[in-house]
Amino acid sequence: MKVLLVFAHPEPRSLNGALRDVAIEELRVQGHEVRVSDLYADGWKSEIDRADFPFLTPEARFKPAAASGEAFAADALTPDVKAEHEKLLWADALILQFPLWWFAMPAILKGWVDRVYSYGFAYGVGEHSDRRWGDRYGEGTLAGKRAMLLVTAGGWEEHYAARGVNGSIDDLLFPINHGILYYPGYDVLPPFVAYRVDRLDAAGFEAVAERLRERMRTLGTIPSIPYRRQNGGDYLIPSMQLRPGLGDPHAAGFALHLNETTAAKADGEDEIVAVPVEA
Ligand code: FAD
Repeated sequence: MKVLLVFAHPEPRSLNGALRDVAIEELRVQGHEVRVSDLYADGWKSEIDRADFPFLTPEARFKPAAASGEAFAADALTPDVKAEHEKLLWADALILQFPLWWFAMPAILKGWVDRVYSYGFAYGVGEHSDRRWGDRYGEGTLAGKRAMLLVTAGGWEEHYAARGVNGSIDDLLFPINHGILYYPGYDVLPPFVAYRVDRLDAAGFEAVAERLRERMRTLGTIPSIPYRRQNGGDYLIPSMQLRPGLGDPHAAGFALHLNETTAAKADGEDEIVAVPVEA
């Protein structure tokens, strides 16, 4: 497989830097080709602004989505964005790696998404009709490829469990997994999360590294999160509401968009057990 790892940590000697090296080494041992977008090292520009669209006249009102679509259609995107498109189209699998900062991705990575996910490339794709609502949520430019998050967190695993005070990790990562990865088509793999990392010693590091190596060995085979297909009949068009009668009656919020309920295994937070609910 061809794998693109987008790395968002400012310090190469960090824990994240060490885990990145572990992941890359194991992927290469498995015979995969790996490329890295190292956002801080590359000086990635994270703000989407007028400078991205030099064809706009000074008097033109800047509308980001419209400018993005125009630039994409005219092959007039900036070279840094085009280079990321080329890598995304090249890769069979995408890994976004970052430390959890304020329950979200670092701003530089969000800015990568804002600028690289152009209109016509990642959104605004496909027809809208009474049967389809564009090519998105499992369909779209990046369909057929796999993607996953590689995340480190200072908080304890229990604090991110279903009843934990931080909110469940599946809920916190849903906007990224479903809104950013599934939206343009990726099959989204369960995230790899390392918890309570701030005082990790050498033995703790080796345990995380070994779990990560195992995940890299199964990158091509591990089942993806069973999100519902938007155009598969589960949602009413145009309201895009889940069809009455579908879904676990006890599920609410994000969990409604799974066609199976998932439960974290007590002994491995990145492993899921699928429990069919609609049989
Ligand atoms: P580092 O600080 O580089 O290392 C962590 C530990 O790993 C160190 O003790 C280091 O010695 C050790 N280590 C062991 N082996 C190695 C090795 N081989 N190489 C390098 N280091 C090693 N946490 C949350 O849970 N939720 C939040 O919302 C949250 N918000 C945050 C917001 C900010 C702005 C910041 C700065 C932190 C936040 N944190 C939060 C904590 C954050 O998630 C962790 O600090 C981060 O994940 C640690 O990753 P790192 O790569 O920066 O680790």
